[in-house]
Amino acid sequence: MTSFSPALLAELQAIVGADHVIHQGESLEQLSKDFYWYSPILKAQLDDKRADAVVRPGSLAELKAVVVACSRVRVPVVPRGGGTGNYGQCIPLYGGVVLDITRLDRILEITADGVIRAEPGVRLIRVETEVRKLGWEMRLLPSTFVKSTFAGFLCGGFGGIGSVTWGTIVTPGNVKSLTLLTCDENPRIVRLEEAECDLALHTYGTTGLVVEIEMRLAPRLNYDQLILSCPDWDKLIVWTDACARRPEWRKRLVTALEAPIPSFFKPMQKRFRPGEHVVFLLVDRDQCAEIIASAAAAGVDCVYHTPLADPLTPPFITDYTWNHATLWAMKVEPSFTNIQITFGPNFQEQSRLLQQRFPGEIIHHHEWMAARARKVGSSASHYAGEDIVVGAVPLIYYKSRERLQEISDYCREIGVVVDDPHTFVLEDGGRIPNLDRKRTLRAQVDPAGLLNPGKMRTAAVNPFAAA
Ligand SMILES: Cc1cc2nc3c(=O)[nH]c(=O)nc-3n(C[C@H](O)[C@H](O)[C@H](O)COP(=O)(O)OP(=O)(O)OC[C@H]3O[C@@H](n4cnc5c(N)ncnc54)[C@H](O)[C@@H]3O)c2cc1C
Repeated sequence: MTSFSPALLAELQAIVGADHVIHQGESLEQLSKDFYWYSPILKAQLDDKRADAVVRPGSLAELKAVVVACSRVRVPVVPRGGGTGNYGQCIPLYGGVVLDITRLDRILEITADGVIRAEPGVRLIRVETEVRKLGWEMRLLPSTFVKSTFAGFLCGGFGGIGSVTWGTIVTPGNVKSLTLLTCDENPRIVRLEEAECDLALHTYGTTGLVVEIEMRLAPRLNYDQLILSCPDWDKLIVWTDACARRPEWRKRLVTALEAPIPSFFKPMQKRFRPGEHVVFLLVDRDQCAEIIASAAAAGVDCVYHTPLADPLTPPFITDYTWNHATLWAMKVEPSFTNIQITFGPNFQEQSRLLQQRFPGEIIHHHEWMAARARKVGSSASHYAGEDIVVGAVPLIYYKSRERLQEISDYCREIGVVVDDPHTFVLEDGGRIPNLDRKRTLRAQVDPAGLLNPGKMRTAAVNPFAAA
């Protein structure tokens, strides 16, 4: 129980206006939740969690006043963007205030040398639309870019569209600076620059409230959306891996999906050949003919070819990639869930071992990513193919928690890295570099432990968990 009271409710209403405080009804329930139900484990743990109120500040001044009001009476503050996270990142474990940042949505500057500066709550589709007008594109977007916010992606996400070239949000050089607001009775601004930004990336809002972001952009390209199909998974993967590693082919997406995953994508059914495996590509329009010809020579046929509209309008083939594939599968068979893994250089052998050990229980979904930052040059070759790694979000036919553990254990046994999407605890989710420095930052920016309490288990101050 928190000390949320009628007096605090009245104070919050006075700060942001009664219309921007939701304290009852279906909206309160919805805005307290994200896509945690992807995981049967999280679903059981988080179904009954909800905020006492959702508050929508319309300016930095209002945001500060909300933080002061909550800090004074020790009420938790849980930031929320679009609410598309998969691990309950923005679900309040101990009630309190969910701080909806979507009204803080101004794009402040797009510089001539390709840096965007924006407020945290701007939706990424608007960011991409605006930067494209000036000859740029976002280096990275989650497949949820229509709903996701800038800060929500950086604090809860990882990578996605663009990762095959630019790596992930923590790849040095992508995020230029983060401006944080501390959570206490005298909120201060803390600015992180370049490599230091890592301390507040993918930390679920536990290391300060992000109030401004600077991110580097990539030169704009025109993309075509391709779907390639083949009845032979191994043949498809050999060609796709070679495609991902060819530096002269400019790409924003390389996704491979094993059958029967394509059969779950109901709106696309007439495009697919029954029983075949598919690859989804976003590639430079000027190189499409060459890429399609190369695939055909390898026995891989193009079954869908549509330009990606600029400004961005559907159809988006990315709606079937990254964590979207699991969503489509769950619509057909609710027993599906997923795991998040990264293969080693022998990824074909590792994925074969998984198929052999868990036939029918694990269905492959590979995503090619760059391991390092890219150097942008004027030449066609603006990144180095040998830095590519194969990540994956395979579908798992869920049987029990123990069986899921068995699958994860086997992955680790054969050298596959597992990032656990079935926990809301930051430290249990996977690789958390610089954890000690992240804890130190949290202690500085949130001395009373009010920011999204319970999500960083090893935080020095965690008053609600201790209660
Ligand atoms: C269908 C589907 C597909 C997805 N595809 C991808 C993908 O391709 N790549 C990927 O990385 N993820 C993906 N995700 C996960 C999710 O969409 C991303 O993490 C997304 O970018 C989160 O943005 P959001 O605005 O919805 O954040 P939210 O879910 O609202 O919040 C995410 C986290 O950020 C914190 N936060 C929000 N705003 C602030 C702030 N101002 N200061 C501090 N902390 C803050 C929240 O407390 C929370 O912990 C997918 C999820 C779904 C359901």
